[in-house]
Amino acid sequence: MSEIDIRKSGRSGHITLNRPEALNALTYDMVRAIDAALLGWANDPDVALIVIDAVGEKAFCAGGDIADLYESGKAGDFAFGQGFWRDEYRMNARLAAYQKPVVSFLQGFTMGGGVGVGCHAAHRIVGQSSRIAMPECGIGLVPDVGGSMLLAHAPGRLGEYLGLCTARMGPGDAILAGFADHYLPEEAWEAVKAALLQSGDLGALKAAVTEPPSAELAQHMAAINASFCGETLGDICTNLRMDTSEFAQKSLAAIERNSPLAMACAVEMIHRLRSARDLPRALELEYRFTHRAMEHGDFLEGIRALIIDKDRAPKWKHALDKVPAVDVSFMLRPLGKDKLTFEEESTAMQIGFIGLGNMGGPMAANLAAAGHNVRSFDVAGTSAAGAVAVASALDAAMNADVVITMLPNGVILRSVADEVIPAMNKGAVLLDCSTVDVESARAVAALCETAGVLPLDAPVSGGTGGASGGTLTFMVGGAEEGFNKALPLFEIMGQKAVHCGASGNGQAAKICNNMILGVTMIATCEAFALADKLGLDRQKMFNVVSTSSGYSWSMNAYCPAPGVGPTSPADNGYKPGFAADLMLKDLRLAQQAAIGADADTPMGAMAQALYAQFVEDEDGAGQDFSAMLPRFEKSGRP
Ligand code: NAD
Repeated sequence: MSEIDIRKSGRSGHITLNRPEALNALTYDMVRAIDAALLGWANDPDVALIVIDAVGEKAFCAGGDIADLYESGKAGDFAFGQGFWRDEYRMNARLAAYQKPVVSFLQGFTMGGGVGVGCHAAHRIVGQSSRIAMPECGIGLVPDVGGSMLLAHAPGRLGEYLGLCTARMGPGDAILAGFADHYLPEEAWEAVKAALLQSGDLGALKAAVTEPPSAELAQHMAAINASFCGETLGDICTNLRMDTSEFAQKSLAAIERNSPLAMACAVEMIHRLRSARDLPRALELEYRFTHRAMEHGDFLEGIRALIIDKDRAPKWKHALDKVPAVDVSFMLRPLGKDKLTFEEESTAMQIGFIGLGNMGGPMAANLAAAGHNVRSFDVAGTSAAGAVAVASALDAAMNADVVITMLPNGVILRSVADEVIPAMNKGAVLLDCSTVDVESARAVAALCETAGVLPLDAPVSGGTGGASGGTLTFMVGGAEEGFNKALPLFEIMGQKAVHCGASGNGQAAKICNNMILGVTMIATCEAFALADKLGLDRQKMFNVVSTSSGYSWSMNAYCPAPGVGPTSPADNGYKPGFAADLMLKDLRLAQQAAIGADADTPMGAMAQALYAQFVEDEDGAGQDFSAMLPRFEKSGRP
């Protein structure tokens, strides 16, 4: 089971945080997965409503997973954290502006990053165990993930109180402060969720909500308003020192533990946002701080003291109410070219990649390196640099714009296609790059067409070198619309994509090409062996043939004679390259297709028989397909 479970259920999209052992702390991968799901479901007619919930009783989500941020920041890499916050805030903004109803169920702790996921939903449900807080000032950050906007619009000075004291809100408090909407006893949640998911309609929720318990903080509102007013953190500290009540002294004690710089900035932000209503404005302001937090703020020291060394004795940069105004304005001044923006990254696609072997691994890595969001799955557990490995083919395919398969054969392709096609969005592309039989390619295409998915069969030539170098050639069958959608991906993974016509034609082109390749390689190897026996020097033979009518790719680009022509597997002890076993597979596919189509292919049949003998009865298995040359060297006329 992965750390986040994203699926469609009934008429709804369902996102479940699934790291209960880590109080569902939000990782970068989870952020990206939520954003991808929201993007994918935005125009999906099957999804009328979104439910966000979490596994476990203790927490909906206790915050961002800061361990990775700390490690990278300590190593002087600030870009990782900046990227995390940037993408997290963009996801928060998408959630808050979502056009379809979003319902969140917030049991136990909902803190920091959890507020960003749970408290921008249009319908936020709390129960008896709910405890919501913005604890960032305790680790040297400002209340972020849009929390600064919620704090700015809490009644009176409650926002300043909650942000500076990092106080926890019970269910009544959360509704009072504007972090939640409805109270629903937790015993009723499962039934209400099931009804929401099934119907895609809010009716079940409206019928079930009950009167919330009273807000404990309501009784302190007068004291809060009296103390948490003023222009700066210094004013608030002065007010609290003058108030001898237990509540004021407890508040002061809480403030004394937190980062002065973060709190001073938080006060300034809350004040600035009081007159604003749009969440992106708040997120952009928060990002000014978080972008600088590792290098110039207290963030790394805060994490060290609270999470890593747990000595709870942080050495903050400033004394409590001695933060110069210039330091606050430095942390909050505009970022220029690094400013957080919310434009859609129109070119980045959501890609599901299934089958990360010798070919698929480097192909997926190239797509991720080009900036696409790649979610990958392989039964063997392999992944690729930059791709997010997920737990199943279904997980990889869900909400993808394009699902790419790179699998061993047609039987496996068909079983994967059966699994993923029903979960794919209408209009998404299923791009199979494996080499399979034409019949399987056409059967998968038919399944796609019924489901409103665009099928492409796009086997490749170019081998593992072409896969890592991004220089493959794609032979593509399928409709123009799918081809055009996949074109930017072909341009990353390869140097050429030829549209060969209707579904199955890509595979047809591939097996025709490889039948020629098998035949010419055998012919080339035979000719070298004959030349040897006739006393003709191999280099001389190459010089002639490579510029005469006997030339071919097998001779000119992949010469089977060691030390002759450009470097090839022959120069590396015939280590593949393109394995003889794979050539046999392709020749068999060609013969299978020839029989089905009543085509006369005697040379292809002969090449298949020779490679079968070489691989199955001799020593060809695991060798490059050009190792036919030493085989012919050894043998005489039968
Ligand atoms: P490979 O065996 O290295 O990779 C196939 C991957 O698919 C493996 O990692 C395997 O674990 C995975 N897989 C198997 N069943 C799966 C399932 N049900 N779900 C998810 N993953 C699954 O093979 P390869 O060399 O990468 O070749 C892949 C395809 O490309 C083949 O069809 C091959 O004929 C074709 N091809 C290979 C080359 C080459 O030079 N290797 C060249 C051109 C085309």
